[in-house]
Order: sequence, then C-alpha cells, then structure tokens
Amino acid sequence: MSELLARHRAVMPAWLALNYTEPIEIVSGKGNRVIDGDGKSYLDFFAGILTNMIGYDVPEVREAVERQLATGVVHTSTAYLLRGQVELAEKIARLSGIPDAKVFFTNSGTEANETALLLATYARKSDQVFAMRQSYHGRSFGAISVTANRAWKNNSLSPLNVHFLHGTDRHLTQFKGLSDADYVKACVDDLRHVLATSVSNDVAALIAEPIQGVGGFTMAPDGLFAAYKEVLDEQGILFISDEVQTGWGRTGSAFFGIRNHGVTPDMLTFAKGLGNGFAVGGVVARGDLMDAPHAVGLSTFGGNPISMAAANATLDFVLDHDLQANAARTGAIIINGLKEAAERLPVVKEVRGKGLMFAVELESPAQASRFMEETKKAGLLAGKGGLYGNAIRMAPPLTLTVDEAVEGLGIIVTALETINAEAA
Ligand code: PLP
Repeated sequence: MSELLARHRAVMPAWLALNYTEPIEIVSGKGNRVIDGDGKSYLDFFAGILTNMIGYDVPEVREAVERQLATGVVHTSTAYLLRGQVELAEKIARLSGIPDAKVFFTNSGTEANETALLLATYARKSDQVFAMRQSYHGRSFGAISVTANRAWKNNSLSPLNVHFLHGTDRHLTQFKGLSDADYVKACVDDLRHVLATSVSNDVAALIAEPIQGVGGFTMAPDGLFAAYKEVLDEQGILFISDEVQTGWGRTGSAFFGIRNHGVTPDMLTFAKGLGNGFAVGGVVARGDLMDAPHAVGLSTFGGNPISMAAANATLDFVLDHDLQANAARTGAIIINGLKEAAERLPVVKEVRGKGLMFAVELESPAQASRFMEETKKAGLLAGKGGLYGNAIRMAPPLTLTVDEAVEGLGIIVTALETINAEAA
C-alpha cells in the first residue's frame, strides 16, 4: 500500500469509493489526458467523474477564473448582485427549453435535486414522489429517498413517500421478450394502476435520469418518458429531469438528455461538468414553481463568483465549438466499434449509450474489475459501476478528438479480448 493510501485509509471513511486495487494520485492534466504521481499518462475516459467536461487546463476557463481572482473577490456573499450569476442563469434558462424558466444555483447535484424536490412537494402540497428503479440522485435524505440502488442506500429513513416506476428493468421475468412498444405499454399500465390503487391523488413529481448514470448508463426505451409525461400531465404531476450526467450535449443528439425523448420537463437539475471541475450545480424550473415558496433563501456558496466565471467560460466553450456535434461524431466511432467487437466477444453482454456516454456490460463484477486494471495498465481511465457492479461506464470530455476516440477504442477492445480469452 502506498504511503498516501495508508494515510487516506487512516483518516477518511472506509466506504469512500476509490478506483483500482492500487488507487492513483492525479497530479496534473492537459487536454484529455492526466498524469499520475509516477509520471504515467492516461487518456481520461471518465472526465474526472464527468466533471472535466472540456478537458484539463483549458486556457479559456483558467483565464476567466484568473480574471475573477484578480478582482480580489473570491467570494463575499451571494446576497449581493453577481453579474456572472445573472449571465449564466440567462444562458441556461434559454437553453433549457423550459417556458418562463428561472435558475437557482447550488454547489452539487445532490443539493440541486433536493431543491427540485422541495419545490415540487411545496407546489403540490404532497410528500409523494415517483422515481425510477435503478436510479441515483445523490447523498442527502431527500435524494437518497428517490435513489433505488442498494449500494448507495444506507437506511430506510425517508422524508418522502416514494414509489419506484419501471423503465430500465427489462431483464425482469415479466418483461422478457417484449418489444419496446409492449414494454412501454406495460410500464404505463403499471403507472396507471399505481395511480388508481397505491397512492393518493396528489403525487408531487416524477424525478428521472434520461440515462441512468450510477445505474450503469441504462436507458429507457424511446417513447417511455413521453408516455409517462402524458399520464402525469393528466393529474398535474411534475416531471423533474435529473441532467447531472446527461446535460450540455453529452448525449450528442440533444443538449439536455430528456429532449431525446421529446419531453419538456417542468424542472431540470444539473451539476458535474458545467464548471469544468469547479463546483456548480443548480435547478431550472418554470417561473411559477420557482417563485412559489415564500421562504427567504440563498445558498452561501451556490452561485459564487469563481464557479460562475468557470461555468460561463465552460458553457461558452461548449457552444462556440459545437461540442454536442463532437460528442455525436466521436461517440459513434466508439459505440459502433464496441458493438462490432461485442459480436465476437461473448463476455460482452451489452454495449449501450448515446454520444459520449457509453457502457459495456460484462458477465460479472470480477470481470469489470479486471477491465479496470487492464485499461489502467494500457493508459486509459474508466468508471466501474452499474446496479450489479458488472458495467464499465465511460464518459470522456466532450473535447475528445477523433484520434483519441480511435486510440481509446483500441485500448478498450484489447482489454475485452483479454478478458474474453480468460473466460473461454
Ligand atoms: N444525480 C445524478 C444523476 C448523479 O449522477 C449524481 C452524482 O453522481 C448526483 C445526482 C449527485 O451529484 P453530487 O455528487 O454532485 O452531489
């Protein structure tokens, strides 16, 4: 065990997740690569944890933050007018597609979801919420309540009355062999049945990830969210799209993931990549929902000047360089390449994803761990996960080049071939 790991273990929680049998310390980064304490270089196919959305050491972000630092104001109070905050909110409100949108900034995805749940339960005067099976929404009481992933749920004390809906669990016996259309129909039948029998008629909201992140990049079939939205609209139940992983063009085909499903949500939440490493999260909600509570509130650090400088520069970079189109282009190279490889490698159970958000499902968690070690050796960082611990999740920076996509694909396929040979 390295000296730093021993010190980490002594003072940090035992449950704090670390990648790799010998965890690495990242000491520098440039472009889409990072360097560890031993000087080894890696192509970062997880973008930190989807945080380094436009790569490392980006001059535009560095200079924006330095300009703010040069004013002498790292932070005073978010109770004063902050130009960067207003400018960022204007851009996000416009991009969200939510009518009459207003934005509240937080420091994390967890706080963003907590805020959205507070707004929804206030608006509907109800503690009843729908969430999706296999979901992950964060670490606070409310966010954990709407999470359906045993590994992240430590207790059953919930401030909300939550009912979990079907949508990404087609492996269950009752859904096996169904076409997309029949599966959607079965899910909607179930929702209507739950509404008629299991909840009172004032459910506040459905919170859903357009592609489930921690769940292993699992995807609901086309048509499901639109069909759910139709039923929810009949009863005034709000739709909250958790875009913490799927926002800002990552899926290639839409700027926010839920737009791939033709759904305009009532609220969306964001975090992770927007500050390119600086902590920024937030909620976008229809004005009537955002303005409804009469409590006075602010977040001490949510919307702080440094995060706003980084986030404005990052978002401008994404738009100026049309990184959504780049995610579509480079993501297709990798996803198509992985699907081809899967045809000859039985160890690969599924390849799924959209744009620069893709996953490979293996037969066992042990194989997923092997994959992590093999790709680390070859100089590529990925993320292990999924509900059953047997998925490899990858989400490179949206600045990934075609050459890097091809290089990364080569490393991944070689690792899969090794694991396939071991399993044979
Ligand atoms: N929502 C989703 C979809 C996430 O993936 C995460 C984190 O992984 C969160 C919420 C929580 O965000 P944070 O870790 O910034 O609190």
